[in-house]
Amino acid sequence: MSLTDAQRAEIAAHAQETSSTRRPTVPALEAMLYDPQEVLDHGFLRVIDYMGDDSAIVQAARVSYGRGTRKVSEDAGLIRYLMRHRHSSPFEMCEIKFHVKLPIFIARQWIRHRMASVNEYSARYSILDSEFYLPAPEHMAAQSEINRQGRGAVLEGADAAAVLDILRDDAMRTYRNYETMLDTDEGYGLARELARINLTLNTYTQWYWKIDLHNLMHFLALRLDPHAQYEIRAYAEVMLKILHAWVPQTASAFEDYRRGAVTFSAGMMKVLRSMLAGEAVERADSGLSKREWDEMMASLKG
Ligand SMILES: Cc1cc2nc3c(=O)[nH]c(=O)nc-3n(C[C@H](O)[C@H](O)[C@H](O)COP(=O)(O)OP(=O)(O)OC[C@H]3O[C@@H](n4cnc5c(N)ncnc54)[C@H](O)[C@@H]3O)c2cc1C
Repeated sequence: MSLTDAQRAEIAAHAQETSSTRRPTVPALEAMLYDPQEVLDHGFLRVIDYMGDDSAIVQAARVSYGRGTRKVSEDAGLIRYLMRHRHSSPFEMCEIKFHVKLPIFIARQWIRHRMASVNEYSARYSILDSEFYLPAPEHMAAQSEINRQGRGAVLEGADAAAVLDILRDDAMRTYRNYETMLDTDEGYGLARELARINLTLNTYTQWYWKIDLHNLMHFLALRLDPHAQYEIRAYAEVMLKILHAWVPQTASAFEDYRRGAVTFSAGMMKVLRSMLAGEAVERADSGLSKREWDEMMASLKG
């Protein structure tokens, strides 16, 4: 994580400030507030602010006059019910704001999640840092032969070193040219908004990203999935830990009913019922495609 001493001092000073409030706060999340958590080689994610807690969901669901909480077990039961039945608006009552530093190619995937508010570092106004994402050796994988969007075996030895050299050299060469184009004395004094256009996609950018809890869980369900690219999953894993600190009852329901759950179609349920009745079911008679069948059997094996 590449933070300057001045940036660290600014974060530390901010973390010293306290204010009294009548609003509910969550001690476990307060303890994490502002603290940058390392992701990838130069990235980080930190919580800047949040609104609400588990009881805010219960309060909204019951349209209460007070905090709306009853016994912890009753509240947890209601949250689990809401999650199980895919209610959304009670979870939208909570919000969280992150500061994220991430490579541009991951930002392009991330920005597809439209139900959030974003403000990105302006490379028209400021000069981007000389920081590029380079995969760690264990993530230097070859193209998967079975999944066009996935990775296969890890590249080894000389091949891995050669690829890393290409990535590093290309990034550094384009950054040097970026500096030359910007330089008003010995370069060309080109506008920042134009000079940046040659930079590689592994250059780091930053943004503030605010999202409600319902849409955060939607993001996490998609981006924690093994089908999501490793580099965005790395950020999602950190956000999952934050979710557990912030709204533990909701996070536990999310693990059960979203992350750990699978969806079976009507056709799959028919197959499952036949299997439970002890009948022999063949793929050819099931009405399922090979892919559906394989996915269903893989889910049942766990
Ligand atoms: C593993 C994986 C692979 C992917 N591969 C590709 C790919 O190859 N190419 C590609 O282009 N994208 C790809 N995506 C991106 C994906 O298609 C979605 O754009 C992204 O995951 C955001 O999901 P979302 O639209 O549900 O989220 P959000 O934009 O946060 O929206 C949340 C929900 O709000 C509703 N909503 C938001 N905006 C609108 C709207 N304008 N109209 C109607 N409803 C709206 C929808 O119900 C939506 O599900 C991939 C995503 C994943 C996780």
